[in-house]
Amino acid sequence: MQQRPGMALNVVMLGPPGAGKGTQAERFARTHGLSKISTGDILREAVHVGTKLGCAARETMDRGELVGDDVMIGIVGERLDRPDTAPGFVLDGFPRTVPQAVALDDMMRSRGPLVVVDIVVPEDVLMRRLAARRICGSCGINASIEWTSACGSCGGQLVTRTDDEDGVVRERLKVYHRQTRPIVEFYAGRPTFRHIDGNQPPDVVTEALSVAIREASLVPAPVKMTPGAAL
Ligand code: AMP
Repeated sequence: MQQRPGMALNVVMLGPPGAGKGTQAERFARTHGLSKISTGDILREAVHVGTKLGCAARETMDRGELVGDDVMIGIVGERLDRPDTAPGFVLDGFPRTVPQAVALDDMMRSRGPLVVVDIVVPEDVLMRRLAARRICGSCGINASIEWTSACGSCGGQLVTRTDDEDGVVRERLKVYHRQTRPIVEFYAGRPTFRHIDGNQPPDVVTEALSVAIREASLVPAPVKMTPGAAL
């Protein structure tokens, strides 16, 4: 992808649960050689392994609520310090609150601008998608639509995510509107922000995202004026 020379490509995928952020972030990161950072995956892995973080986060996740900002900001800050993120990254599931978005801006100070894409999908479609979603009960990865009964990666059994059960899904959508939706307004005025119609076949969404991110990544950075500089 053409982007401004010397600039890392730092992408944030926004959207409600079931919008397809994970699938699209995975595809975009793979085809552009970037690291995908999914906070949901990091937390599920911690629960699976039984670390201190996993034990603390498990009940919150099962209720469909959000893990605390300080914990999440710490996790992402450490992850973004790793060298694989130098060419850029794709964030899936972070930020989810305005304080997280403010903290991410702080982390980005010396790293170039964020390209932020918001994947928009009607609520009835989200409910149907989440009811049908499966993950592998052994290794925890999201099941591809081509896998019918077993995980294509490790052969494990496909199961419903505990937080994709009906009551929890309703809670997650409420939490999204209350706590996460305000960050769309937080980013909306930026020249590198784009909305994408996520209610289309996945390949069409992938292409639309690629075009939007390419275009947004070419937006010139705002010129910083030094006080007293000649105009
Ligand atoms: P996800 O796979 O992105 O839907 O995340 C699954 C669950 O992990 C969420 O419902 C939250 O409980 C938790 N989680 C993931 N990312 C965050 C975040 N940035 N802030 C707070 N909680 C999060």
